[in-house]
Amino acid sequence: MSSIIQLLPDHVANQIAAGEVVQRPASVVKELLENAVDAKATDIKLIIKDAGKSLVQVIDNGVGMSVTDARLCFERHATSKIRQAEDLFSLHTKGFRGEALASIAAIAHVEMKTKQDQEELGHHIIIEGSKFVSQELAVLPKGTSFAVKNLFFNIPARRNFLKSDVVEHRHIVDEFQRVALAHPNIYFTFYHNGSELFNLPPSNSRQRIVNIFSGKTNEKLVPVQEMTEIVSIQGFVSKPEFAKKSRGEQFFFVNNRYIKSGYLHHAIMAAYEGLLKDGCQPSYFLYLDVPPHTIDINIHPTKTEIKFDDEHALYAILRSSIKHSLGQFNVAPVLDFDRDANLDTPYHYKDLDASVPTIQVDGNYNPFSQEKPVKQSYPADNFRTKRSETASWESLYIGLKNDTETLVENTEIHFESEEVTASLFDDSEVEKVVNKTYQIHKKYIVNPIKSGMVIVDQQRAHQRVLYEQFLTNMTIHQAASQQLLFPLNLFFSKNELELISELKIALVNTGFVFEATAEDHIVISGIPVNVTESEVSLVLEQLLSDLQEGIPENSFSQNDSIAKSMAKSLAVKTGTYLTEKEQENLVNGLFACKDPNVSPFQKPTFITMRVEDLDKKFSI
Ligand code: ADP
Ligand code: MG
Repeated sequence: MSSIIQLLPDHVANQIAAGEVVQRPASVVKELLENAVDAKATDIKLIIKDAGKSLVQVIDNGVGMSVTDARLCFERHATSKIRQAEDLFSLHTKGFRGEALASIAAIAHVEMKTKQDQEELGHHIIIEGSKFVSQELAVLPKGTSFAVKNLFFNIPARRNFLKSDVVEHRHIVDEFQRVALAHPNIYFTFYHNGSELFNLPPSNSRQRIVNIFSGKTNEKLVPVQEMTEIVSIQGFVSKPEFAKKSRGEQFFFVNNRYIKSGYLHHAIMAAYEGLLKDGCQPSYFLYLDVPPHTIDINIHPTKTEIKFDDEHALYAILRSSIKHSLGQFNVAPVLDFDRDANLDTPYHYKDLDASVPTIQVDGNYNPFSQEKPVKQSYPADNFRTKRSETASWESLYIGLKNDTETLVENTEIHFESEEVTASLFDDSEVEKVVNKTYQIHKKYIVNPIKSGMVIVDQQRAHQRVLYEQFLTNMTIHQAASQQLLFPLNLFFSKNELELISELKIALVNTGFVFEATAEDHIVISGIPVNVTESEVSLVLEQLLSDLQEGIPENSFSQNDSIAKSMAKSLAVKTGTYLTEKEQENLVNGLFACKDPNVSPFQKPTFITMRVEDLDKKFSI
């Protein structure tokens, strides 16, 4: 039989390898920035267009390349950083696999300019899909510039797989921040579509963190420092009262390389035990230094996961040093008049000395109770109390269909025209929905109806009610807004502020009133009626993080994403006690919805049980 195995041609092998190294524009950003750092640059510029889909460019003032190296760097396994296997265990560079440039060149149009300090002239090389197009001598400044255009031009499937610009941009910002945080002594600038997003002069690591994440960050941080034989730890963690709902700012660096580690993350969470509100996450920026031979970085193609020799010891040291810092710097809650005290009420620290702080949780804390600061708006007023209101509610949609056909088309929102509750109950049954409701397990609301009973999931039902309210408000541009007595100053990073300005119209349509936008904060003087003052910052934070992470999935417009995210944040949660009136309002609100059967995330909101079903169960 004839032999059938063949060696793949290089350009095919490179394309396959590219699949591992280059998943999205952010991967190119990471590799190019790391190469610039390895080239000992002190000034690195990142320039992107269209969230990196049309251009990723990195310009450095590093050592540059000779003519031979300028050609060789695009070969697979071509690296100047290691020579033999043993070098893998004494790494001082970011790169070592020699495959990034070969991979990138295989799937994009690359233009490289490079000049070494001692040379008169530099080299200008163009390479497309692994093919050299041109190579010329050129007058250039010292250093290297890589421009990567039309990523995945020859792999349309991969190109189509890319997410929205907001999501891809978020990934790029993440990579940029990781490298910039790992190297505070290097000057970094970052431009997106011609506007400067970050300008980070050389500084110490605390200043670098503040420059990236806005001035407000400074007061949130507690320093961590620990020196042992197997690891030295330095960095900062956030005070527990500044913990966020989203996982945003969590960074581990090992020997100046950003890494992900669920295990070490767990060590940190263990240090915060008892200090965080439910579901909240601390920020951390931790720099670990370990002897290079005690780690293996070569276990993952993107080099973001590593293996430690003695993980258990590391875990224990990390946890205790953070506990120590929290105890030392953060035993008493900060008196901060800008903060809404309501956010802190269920929590207070018992111990005022440096022992492990404990908390008391008010189990009866109920966001529905009368003590709620903005009583007039939430929640009873927002649930539809009477059936008679349904008629006017529906007419909103009807008016919408007749009057603003184009608007509906533009926002891709499709409203069906069938009767709102027709499929559920006939009229006589609907009348009875309000008769008597029972809440069970602080989770379900049981409601007898003529034919049996409905069991409503309170959290999902409320999500549905809020979702439709937000969507309606945004579509008809008529949201009710509650004026704040004192405008709120909310601080965000530059990147978040950019996203807020993109979303501004949609947010105004939900009821937000923006008084001013400054360099690092916004001033809000009005908020949607179904949001309380103390919820505003969490809702916006969650919204920004949802949109940037690309969740909720399957949203068909920006309005839809916003409505989903806000409904999710604001809906009453499982575990909340509801009064009978609130239960009724919720059930009525749900069945006044356009699509009461499912939550905005397509989960069932209620089930029905007919009397016959019950009879059957008893007939055994
Ligand atoms: P690795 O970084 O793993 O060595 P790369 O494919 O990223 O592999 O780069 C290949 C080689 O090209 C590097 O080892 C380095 O010698 C050279 N190189 C890449 N980028 C630069 C740069 N910005 N400045 C100078 N040399 C560079
Ligand atoms: Mg590299």
